[in-house]
Amino acid sequence: MLTLTSVEASYGRVKALRGVSLHVEAGEIVTLIGANGAGKSTILKTISGLVHAEAGSIKFDGQEISGWSAGRIVSAGLCQVPEGRQLFGTLSTRDNLLLGAYPRRSRTSKAAIAADLEEQFERFPLLSERSQQQAASLSGGEQQMLALARGLMSGPRMLLLDEPSLGLAPKIVRQFFQTVVSLRDEGLTVLLVEQNARAALQIADRGYVLETGRIVLEGTAQELLENPEVQRAYLGRGYKEVWE
Ligand code: ATP
Repeated sequence: MLTLTSVEASYGRVKALRGVSLHVEAGEIVTLIGANGAGKSTILKTISGLVHAEAGSIKFDGQEISGWSAGRIVSAGLCQVPEGRQLFGTLSTRDNLLLGAYPRRSRTSKAAIAADLEEQFERFPLLSERSQQQAASLSGGEQQMLALARGLMSGPRMLLLDEPSLGLAPKIVRQFFQTVVSLRDEGLTVLLVEQNARAALQIADRGYVLETGRIVLEGTAQELLENPEVQRAYLGRGYKEVWE
């Protein structure tokens, strides 16, 4: 569904991606793990058109999307849920959700968008209870749920999730990841960036390890969980807190 081939990206003179190649098949959860500054967020931003790919190819459903605007990429069915939620804090939960549907306003009826809003409220009953509450006043876990639900309102076929567990309590992380698994079971494809590598590999089908802008290892989630290098560098903490 998504294929990156030799993708490069820079911030000014700082090279952030040095020939990244990866693929995500339809219906998979694939995780990208790596230390701070390895380039994980940059990969997601380059896929979603927020950072310019200066070399290489990015194909979504067989179509070359590098060079497309971020809006066009969302409209094509590829939606990023950004690190730090990036909600509209002074707007209500409901209005944040409706803004998620903004990219498809011209091709979707108001009734269909209203039905999708109800679907999100059914999926996330807490958001329904807080529909008129300002987004900034929600708890961290609720805000992450809202960011995910807002992304779903764009009608994506594939989600890019950037550090969804950041700052959340282990129980909330577990609930959130269970929701991600349900979405995959319903047919969504997911590329998940996580510092909490152990938790991410527990729900992923496959994973890639990134170091200073390069993929250094790839495998099934099980292979990576059992890899001594991965265990030493990335799995030291987090597992017990979250999954036991
Ligand atoms: P983190 O987990 O800390 O978000 P990451 O793996 O997502 O790390 P990136 O945020 O993609 O890493 O950063 C990759 C490299 O690009 C780092 O060296 C970082 O300092 C640099 N970088 C990221 N964003 C910018 C920016 N806006 N301007 C300049 N350099 C940046």
